[in-house]
Amino acid sequence: MRIARFTTGDDPRFALVQQEGDKTFLAVLGGDPLYMPAMPTGERVELGDGVRLLAPVIPRSKVVAVGKNYVDHAKEMGGEVPSSPLLFFKPNTSVVGPDDPVVLPDFTQEVSYEAELAVVISKVCKDVTPENARSYILGYTVANDVTARDAQRVDGQWARAKGFDTSCPLGPWIDTDLNPEDVGVRSRVNGELRQDGRTRDMVFDVPFLVSYISEAMTLLPGDVILTGTPAGVGRIDHGDRVECEVEGLGVLANPVMRRR
Ligand code: ZN
Repeated sequence: MRIARFTTGDDPRFALVQQEGDKTFLAVLGGDPLYMPAMPTGERVELGDGVRLLAPVIPRSKVVAVGKNYVDHAKEMGGEVPSSPLLFFKPNTSVVGPDDPVVLPDFTQEVSYEAELAVVISKVCKDVTPENARSYILGYTVANDVTARDAQRVDGQWARAKGFDTSCPLGPWIDTDLNPEDVGVRSRVNGELRQDGRTRDMVFDVPFLVSYISEAMTLLPGDVILTGTPAGVGRIDHGDRVECEVEGLGVLANPVMRRR
C-alpha cells in the first residue's frame, strides 16, 4: 500500500496511490491514516494538473536523523563510523514535499544533498527491542537530508546546518510494504548520478535504530527517522534539480533556489 498526501488547492487530504500504466491515480481517504484505519471515500483523482503531492507526513514531534551510518560516507567526511548511532534532530518546520523548492539560506555558501531512506513511525514507541521494531513502523519514504556543510563545520551543533526551513524534503509517498534490508539509495543532480548505495551497507540497520532511539526518547505516530546517507554527497546550487530515490519506492525531486 502506498499512502500519499495531496492537495487540489484546498486543505491537504490523504489517498492510496494506484498506478495504471504511466498514469497515477489517487484513491482519496477520509481522515488521516496515521490516526485511523485507511477508509477510501470512493473519490478518485488523477495526479497531474491541479493535483499536487505534498510531504506524505508532517512529523508530529520530530525528525530524528542518523549521521555517518554508511562506512563509505563516514570516510568521505574524513572520519570513522561511530561505535553507536550518532543522532541529531531536524525540526518539523524543515519538512517540504515533492517539487517544493529547497531554498538556500543566506548564511551558507555550501549546501549538500543527502539521499536517505526514511522510516515513518505508526504508534507510540518507547523501549522497543529490534525484534519488535517492525510493528511500530507504518512504512517508508524518501528523504533528502539537506545540509549546510560550512555551518556544520563551524557550529559544532548541527541545528542550523541541518534544521533550516526546506532542509527536509520527504516523499513522494509512504510505502507500507517495502522491505528496507537491501534496496538502492541514489541521488542525481540535474540528471547526473551522484550517490548509488544500498541499505545493506548501513552500519546500524532499521530495527536497531528504532530500538536505540526509543531507549532515549518516545517516538510518536508520524515521527520520522532518517537512516543516513551513502557516499557521494556534494553541492547543490541555485537552478539545480536534485532527485533522491529509494529503489522500489519512488523518486523525490526538488528544485534548488536562492532568494535574490
Ligand atoms: Zn544525513
